[in-house]
Amino acid sequence: MSQTQTLEDIQNFEGKYPKQIWSLFFSEMWERFSFYGMRGMLVFFMIDQLNFGEAQANLQYGATQAFVYAFTFLGGLFADKILGFRKSLFWGGSMMILGSIILAVDPHAYFFLGIAFTVIGTGFFKPNISTMVGYLYKKGDSRTDAGFSLFYAGINLGALIGGYLCIAIGKGHLLQDTIDEAHRWSVAFGLAAFVMLISLVNFVFTKRHLGPIGLQPKEITKDGKEIRMPLWKEIGTYILTFAMVPVIVFMIDNTDYTAYFMYTVGPLALIYLFYEMTKLNSSERKKIIAALVFIFFSILFFGIYEQAGGSLSIFAAKNLNSDLLGMHLDPNGVNNSGGAFFIIFIAPLLGLLWIWMAKKKIEPNTVMKFGLGFILLGAGYYALFGTRFFADTVGMTSLDFFTFALLVITLGELCLSPIGLSIMTKLSTANLQGMMMGMWFLASAYGQYVAGLLGAAMSKTRSEVPTGNHPNYDALIAYTDGYKDLGLYAVIAGVVLIALSPLMKKLMQEVR
Ligand code: GLN
Repeated sequence: MSQTQTLEDIQNFEGKYPKQIWSLFFSEMWERFSFYGMRGMLVFFMIDQLNFGEAQANLQYGATQAFVYAFTFLGGLFADKILGFRKSLFWGGSMMILGSIILAVDPHAYFFLGIAFTVIGTGFFKPNISTMVGYLYKKGDSRTDAGFSLFYAGINLGALIGGYLCIAIGKGHLLQDTIDEAHRWSVAFGLAAFVMLISLVNFVFTKRHLGPIGLQPKEITKDGKEIRMPLWKEIGTYILTFAMVPVIVFMIDNTDYTAYFMYTVGPLALIYLFYEMTKLNSSERKKIIAALVFIFFSILFFGIYEQAGGSLSIFAAKNLNSDLLGMHLDPNGVNNSGGAFFIIFIAPLLGLLWIWMAKKKIEPNTVMKFGLGFILLGAGYYALFGTRFFADTVGMTSLDFFTFALLVITLGELCLSPIGLSIMTKLSTANLQGMMMGMWFLASAYGQYVAGLLGAAMSKTRSEVPTGNHPNYDALIAYTDGYKDLGLYAVIAGVVLIALSPLMKKLMQEVR
């Protein structure tokens, strides 16, 4: 393979996966290690080290998550218009490294500053690496979803290891004899910086195999000539991103602004997209509308799914025993990492199943996969509801059954999340690839936001009148009632999507 490889050469690969997917797999794996490593430390660090109240820590955590995914829209937009995917990745990765180094130097003094760099950096990195995976496939290649499923396994491998290691080092559960207490958090944040560096080094050394994929777009002059992107635009982008750092610091620090931000960013993004759509022909426009339908449904999906980080972690702490198939395990640990664990094994297998079904011409199309994703999500939430039937009088219930529910939810995630990445690349025109991927993740920002609102609503439903039951038993009933409702909404969404399938087919045209 060499620099002279054309897009054709890359896309005409033989076998199940293109070779280049592995370098993207590893870069994304290390990036997610760093991201989830960091994310896993936030709430604990804020409460334990910065002495924030629980509610405050949760609000600020929610704000960072909303901002991270909201910045993917800008990251995607600047990649399409100015930087190209490779430079965006490099710039985003560098910002993430800088953010983690700032945190490693003095996590107490520079906490929000470090986080702000990481937030913006992720916005430039995350959507654009996913878009590059899409470019490895020719339009209509039935192996695309399998590629994204494999890539998704990489995401979760990084998430699992990073999510465990960083916090364990910070808290002193790991290497406590080697690292003295005063330096544990610095080492943990430093580890996030180090693995992000591996991600970038891996990318720099393997990017030559990507042929023309992700190169900087050309500027089109008024007379239609293609020239190099003016340097001032590129440097202007870098300066602008730096200028945003204090804005993010301010907004995370003042969480009231998160709501205003959430109310404005989505509509603005949509207005901009509508403006871009006026430049498209009617066939391209229909595909973008179909992409927007998928994006809309993904808000609902993640609003339900993301209970994992919120109400489900409270549920795990209060209501689950520590016995998983005879092993003694922390139920919160299972809640945090069980999904990623299942995905690592199931995602590649599911990918192979899609390829096999495509060969037999029985592969479900994207609308069906999304519908199935919702139905499985719903079934998983009904299973969470079902945990109440295993409860004792103090509200303790089965971790085994909870983990089964997690497995069903994860199967749903695999029918929707990687498939969503794939369909964004299939439905977007060449000049909107980054932005549409950004929109897909922007939906996740709303999903996180909605999840928080739903979780808060559920925690308030408990009756004021004493029931005579143990308080944990009442909590179990309140939460599982909520999960039953969410299960029903998910199933309804799945059915609606499947019913929309004929209309979606028309909008998607030849795309499956
Ligand atoms: N867990 C996946 C990831 O980290 C999906 C995130 C999302 O879209 N909300 O990439």
